[in-house]
Amino acid sequence: MKFRPLLIAAALTAAAPAFAEEVTVYSARIEALIKPLFDAFTKETGVQVRFVTGQEGPLMERLKAEGANTPADMLLTVDAGNLWQAEQQGLLKPVKSAVLDANVPAHLRDPGGYWYGMSIRARTIFYNTKKVKPSDLSSYEDLASPKWKNRLCLRTAKKVYNQSLVGTMIVRLGEQKTESIVRGWVNNLAADPFSDDESMLKAIGAGLCDVGIANTYYYGRVMQRDPKLPIGIFWANQQSSGTHVNISGVGVTRYAKNEKGALRLMEWLSSEKAQNLYADQNMEFPVNPKVKPDARVAAWGDFKHDYVNVAKAGELQATAVKLMDRAGYR
Ligand code: FE
Repeated sequence: MKFRPLLIAAALTAAAPAFAEEVTVYSARIEALIKPLFDAFTKETGVQVRFVTGQEGPLMERLKAEGANTPADMLLTVDAGNLWQAEQQGLLKPVKSAVLDANVPAHLRDPGGYWYGMSIRARTIFYNTKKVKPSDLSSYEDLASPKWKNRLCLRTAKKVYNQSLVGTMIVRLGEQKTESIVRGWVNNLAADPFSDDESMLKAIGAGLCDVGIANTYYYGRVMQRDPKLPIGIFWANQQSSGTHVNISGVGVTRYAKNEKGALRLMEWLSSEKAQNLYADQNMEFPVNPKVKPDARVAAWGDFKHDYVNVAKAGELQATAVKLMDRAGYR
């Protein structure tokens, strides 16, 4: 009994040394996806990671409102469209790192060093295997063809994922051509746009729609729950531009108090030892080309990326939103 207070004091000291280095992260990814990573980083480096999770919109608003007083050193969010917005709003600070340049392919990071991709998700075509043959499929553009009349399902145009996809289509096809394709999609819809990818995929599995466009990890989740669903994955645009890929990624905040610590965490996240820990939990692809994806993800096969820099998705976001509105895609 006499020794107990001493033991508690020792335990507290071990958990949080008085002057331990600390990095604070604002994360749009949920705790279950990031905590194991941060714990591993702390174990290896002794640097403590504090984090706040929330939706990207409110987190970015909070960063803006806090300005120079923010405790955040790093922002972690999904989609290059969101990271680009954060940079445009002056919330990020550029960093240079030979480690990041080696670990993150050039098309998956900001050319100015404001943000870096840490995992890859592809937004590609899914189909009902009882109603569609892979040989019927080819590209995002082809989904506008009349042969898909009343057979296509899409998620709402309000989601940044679709804005990014359409933004990259504008880069390669121009506005006019892209608008006519989006109009074709709208004409082919079998149901009103869905609020999320998972319900859209389930509608494909149920036969309400024959084809649709979704992010790969949602497919992974839906199939993990119900492996018998007749849903196939098809890598879009393999004969042309490659499949649209996007990222989850990170950037150092403009007013970071511990910029060095944030950079160290970013470099560690991109490293070979951390990449599987980062990507596998959400069934994403590692960005680091030296790292193999999880077996469940690898089973979907290799594919050619659209190598347009994902920053373009941000640059063309406003144009894409207006274009989809004109085309009647809601
Ligand atoms: Fe998502």
